[in-house]
Amino acid sequence: MAGEQIISGKIILGPEPEVIEGNICLKNGVIENIEEEHTSSENIISPCFVNSHTHIGDSVFKDPVLGNKVVGNRFERNLDYLVRPPNGLKHRILKNTSESKLIKYMEKTIEDMKTTGTFAFADFREGGIPGVMALKSALEAKNIKCRILGRITRTEGDISDIVYEAERVLSESDGFGISGAGDMDLKILENVREVAASYKKTFFIHAGEKDKNDIDAALSFDPDALIHMTHAESRHLKYVADEKKTIIICPRSNFITGVGRAPVEKMLDLGINVAVGTDNVMLNSTNMFAEMEVLTKVFGIDDRQVFKMCTLNGASVLNFNDIGYIEKGLSPKIMILNGNSDNLAGITDPIRGIVRRARPDDILTIIN
Ligand SMILES: [Zn+2]
Repeated sequence: MAGEQIISGKIILGPEPEVIEGNICLKNGVIENIEEEHTSSENIISPCFVNSHTHIGDSVFKDPVLGNKVVGNRFERNLDYLVRPPNGLKHRILKNTSESKLIKYMEKTIEDMKTTGTFAFADFREGGIPGVMALKSALEAKNIKCRILGRITRTEGDISDIVYEAERVLSESDGFGISGAGDMDLKILENVREVAASYKKTFFIHAGEKDKNDIDAALSFDPDALIHMTHAESRHLKYVADEKKTIIICPRSNFITGVGRAPVEKMLDLGINVAVGTDNVMLNSTNMFAEMEVLTKVFGIDDRQVFKMCTLNGASVLNFNDIGYIEKGLSPKIMILNGNSDNLAGITDPIRGIVRRARPDDILTIIN
């Protein structure tokens, strides 16, 4: 972005988001100045979203049957049937998907994220080195930030071969996205963890998604972030708070897989950094507006907290220091929403309005 541009409206400003009326002056790709003054513009200027947990590799199949039997008038929801490695539905589908199709559908999801206001995401990429390279290919020229968290394909055999693969995966990625402490021999996982530590790369792990049984083991690996923690007990959460780790919750994913409701209020009460992800594209769209609506209406979480969970808190755990909020001196990752759209006209607080009811079609433009 070159040259100078002034945008006016209600600005959601700062890391502790507050709303001011005014103008943002953009110059040579940086927010050069923000001035507070009355404006007649109905536009809302918001930071873009950070989607902290996705699996966009399963974009090829978006409407699976959710379990393998019908119970009464609904399908059983069976997490293991859907996604557990190595033979869950998702993994069977990935095995039968050509590389070109995989890349094409991941590109579609990346475009969809951009259209729906997301500027950064972290993806758990299956399939070892080829899986990581496919995502890199899909990201080419897409102008979106991504943390690629790969994983190894070899989970048995000679440990030196496993470590060699782990090192190669890390040489092409930002870290590991581990399926879960219950899905892999713990000795192997220890070695994988050591490789991540020695490369100073990220180590995220699913934990406590369908029950609490894998949480203690997951915590023993000193992960940078835990995904889900749907069944975390108070002692787990206290430990996470003391260790200043992040929990990335995926509420819509938890509902569609039938695993339950994460104790989000407790996490926030303990001061844990809670971020939000949309999880498998097979199960959910990557639309963060939908995630926010669930958090405010089903969980009853304060709107400002929800907004931060979907912006700044995610940027923080993904180590993106210049996004997730609007401030002078940062590069703009901004969406401009039409505060006078048929949907948004009449809102009095842009943060409440966005969290409770905004939709992708309220976005006028995205500047990044
Ligand atoms: Zn996941």
